[in-house]
Formats: sequence, structure tokens, C-alpha cells
Amino acid sequence: MPPLKTVQDYIRTIVDFPHDGILFRDVTTLFADPRGFRMAIDQMLHPYAGQPIDKVAGLEARGFILGGAIAHQLSVGFVPIRKKGKLPGAVISEEYQLEYGEAVVELHDDAIQPGERVLLVDDLLATGGTAAAGIRLIERLGGIITGCAFVVDLPDLGGHKRLTDMGMDVHTLCA
Ligand code: 5GP
Repeated sequence: MPPLKTVQDYIRTIVDFPHDGILFRDVTTLFADPRGFRMAIDQMLHPYAGQPIDKVAGLEARGFILGGAIAHQLSVGFVPIRKKGKLPGAVISEEYQLEYGEAVVELHDDAIQPGERVLLVDDLLATGGTAAAGIRLIERLGGIITGCAFVVDLPDLGGHKRLTDMGMDVHTLCA
């Protein structure tokens, strides 16, 4: 029998995307595989089994795919954290630094009620700038972050340390 595949085995690396010199970790191959996708969702949830979670928040865009499946599994609601200008209702915004320039993420101002326990989800943790902005949004609405779950961790880019330094429980599946 061939050895069982791990989550990492389903992820491919695309060279020079979106720019020359970037090795892009492509999780669409993980999402496309029935065993891979289920394994990723199960493993992302594993540390939080039995913990009270009221909502899942997903970061645009691959965090929506993972977060929707996780919210369904937990029977809780899902809220999207989107790039600037995409959400139709009243929003709060947070800016963060990119390699060149800045970006803004937004959350509906009524998406989370004070005291709600939130699991933050995205596909990949690099510098942690996106996730940190998402954390600030959730906390501004009074949400309590139970944990931050990602499929891929690129620890050399500092995101894991940045989030743990913010007091977050960070859970990642592979490097
Ligand atoms: P950070 O803000 O931690 O530097 O970057 C993480 C964000 O950029 C995540 O929302 C993630 O989806 C995206 N990202 C950056 N690099 C990659 C990559 O190589 N593969 C994928 N799938 N997403 C990436």
C-alpha cells in the first residue's frame, strides 16, 4: 500500500507567481482533492475540539473556502474579512503594510458582537500583516480570538512569531 499522503503533499509550488522570484504555494490542488480538503479542515479544527467558538472569520479569499467549511463543521456562523470596498454594509477598516505600499481590510461593523469567541482562518501565514489586521478588526468589535488557524506557515517571514507575540494561539498544518 502506498504511504498515506499528508496535507503538504497536496500543495504545489508555482515558480515566479505573481512576480519573478516568488515561490507561490498553491492550495487549489489541496482544495480540489476530497481527501486532502477534508484532512485540512479536520486538522485545522483539531486543537479547538470542545472549545466554545461562536463564529469563524475568514480572510479573503482562500480563507473563505476554508472558513466556510470549518463554520459548517462547527455549526456556527461565518463572517468575511474583505479587501477595501467589497462589503456592502457599514464597515470598520484596518490598514497594513505590504512589501510595496499598503492594503486595507474591512469587516461589517455588526459582524461580531462583544464577547463572541472567534476562530480566524486563512490559507497561509507569511509576514502576518494580513492576519494581524484581521485580529485588530475582530478585537475592535469586542470579539475574543480563540485561535488563528492556517494551512501553510512560512515562519522565516515572521508571521508566526508576530501573532504569538500578540498573545494569539496560532495553529498551522505544514511549512
Ligand atoms: P502575510 O500578510 O502573512 O504576509 O501574507 C499572507 C496573505 O497573503 C494570505 O492572505 C495569503 O492568502 C496570501 N499569500 C501570500 N503568499 C502566498 C502564497 O505563496 N500562497 C498562497 N496561497 N497565499 C499567499
